[in-house]
Amino acid sequence: MAGVTFAKGGVHPAEHKELTEHLAIEEMPPPAEVALPLSMHFGAPAKAVVQKKQEVQEGDVVATVEKGLGATIHSSVTGTVKAIEPRPHPTMVRCDAIIIERDPAAPPRVYEPVDWLKLSGEQLLARVKEAGIVGLGGAGFPTHVKLSPPPTAKVDTLILNGAECEPYLTTDHRLMVEMPQKVVEGAKVLLKILGIREAVIGIELNKPDAINAMNKAAEAASGSDATIRVQGMTVKYPQGSEKQLIYALTGRSVPGGGLPFDVGVIVQNISTTLAVFEAATLNKPLYEKVVTFSGRGIKRQANLKVKVGTVLSDVVNYLGGTTPDLLKIVSGGPMMGFAISTLDVPIVKTSSGVLFLDKTETDVSPHGPCIHCGWCIEACPMGLQPKEVAIYVEAGKGHLTEKFGVFDCFECGCCAFVCPARRPLVQFARLAKMAIKRGR
Ligand code: SF4
Ligand code: SF4
Repeated sequence: MAGVTFAKGGVHPAEHKELTEHLAIEEMPPPAEVALPLSMHFGAPAKAVVQKKQEVQEGDVVATVEKGLGATIHSSVTGTVKAIEPRPHPTMVRCDAIIIERDPAAPPRVYEPVDWLKLSGEQLLARVKEAGIVGLGGAGFPTHVKLSPPPTAKVDTLILNGAECEPYLTTDHRLMVEMPQKVVEGAKVLLKILGIREAVIGIELNKPDAINAMNKAAEAASGSDATIRVQGMTVKYPQGSEKQLIYALTGRSVPGGGLPFDVGVIVQNISTTLAVFEAATLNKPLYEKVVTFSGRGIKRQANLKVKVGTVLSDVVNYLGGTTPDLLKIVSGGPMMGFAISTLDVPIVKTSSGVLFLDKTETDVSPHGPCIHCGWCIEACPMGLQPKEVAIYVEAGKGHLTEKFGVFDCFECGCCAFVCPARRPLVQFARLAKMAIKRGR
C-alpha cells in the first residue's frame, strides 16, 4: 500500500514507539480517589451538580454545562464526594475539581448491550452528548457539536484519524490492533449521525498490524449502508493534524480560518470513535480511557486503561515509580504536549499520553540567536515564517505579526524541532497570538 501525505513541510522526529507499540492494553485497578476537573473540554467549565458527602455511582452525571460549548462530566467510580476544590490541572495549572472517594466494596458497573441500529441519527447524537464525549486527540472539542455541521455544509466524508504521528504515543495504535470491529462499528454510528456513507481511515505506514486489522474489519463492515476503507499514509509529522490529514486523504485544502466541514469532511480520532461506539452500543458515558505512559524515566511503560480523574502519582506507583534519570514530564506527545511539574495532576478526558523523559530524550540547554538558516520556514506545514514571528516578539512587536499568518499556526512544533539555535518558536507564536489579541 503506497502512502499519501500532505503538501508542505513536516519533519521526521525519532518515533520511540518501540517502547509501547507491542504492549497490550492493560486495565489499571481503580484508585482510592479520583479528581475530576470541571474543565477538561473546549468551552466553559462544567458546573457541579453534586455536593460534598453525596454518594455517586460509577457513570452518574456529576457536572453539566447549561449553555454554550462544553461537555457533561460523569463519575468514574462509585463512592462519596469528598470535596469540590481547586486542584492541579495538566494544562490550566489549577482548576476546580470534584474529588470522589471510591467505595472499595462497590462492584464495577455493568452495561447491557443496546441495539443501536433501532435508534435514529438524532437519538444517537443525543447519546453522544449525554455521554460527555469530546475529541480525545487533545483539543477536547465537544463531539456532539462537531457532529452537527451547519445545513449549508455539504459533508460527504468521515475521516477516522489513525495517524497517531506524535512520537511515543501508541494508544490509537493498540485500539486499532485489539478492537478493530468496535472502531469500525463506531464509524458506522458516526456515519448514521452524519447521514452519509463514506468513511476513510488514515493510518501511518509504521503501523502495519493496525492497517491489517482495520482493513479486515472495514471490509467486513462495508455494505449497502456504508463504505469504509483504510488508506496508508507516509510516516511524517504532523500527518495527524486535521488540515494535513484531510489534504493527504482527499486532496481537499481547508481554507485559512476555515473548518473541515467547509470542504465536506468531518474528522474523528480513533479513541473518540471508540467512545462513540460505547455510548451507542452500551449507553456508557466517557469516564475511562486508554493512555500511553512512556519514556525512559519511568520504570515500566504501558498502554493503560485508566479512570478519568486518576491522579498521576497513583499511575506512577502502579508502574513501579520513576527512574533516577527522570528530567521532564510531558502531558501529551513531545511535539505538542505540555511540560508538567507535579504528579498531583489527574488524567483528564483529553490525556493521550504522559511521557517521563530522561536526559537522553530531552534537551534543556538554552537557546541562541537566529542564524537565519530558514529551516523553520521549510519545515512549517502551513507555509508560515516562524523566525520572523520570533524576531518581532523578541523586539516587543508581537502585535504586528498577523501579517505572517500567525493565527494559522496550530503549534505543531516542526519549526522548533529543526531550529539549530534551539529557539522556542512555538512559545514565540503563542506570545504573538496573545499580543495581537491584546493589541500591543
Ligand atoms: S508551530 Fe506553527 S509556525 Fe511552527 S511549524 Fe507548526 S504551524 Fe508552523
Ligand atoms: S530555524 Fe531557527 S535559526 Fe534557522 S531561521 Fe529559523 S529561527 Fe532562525
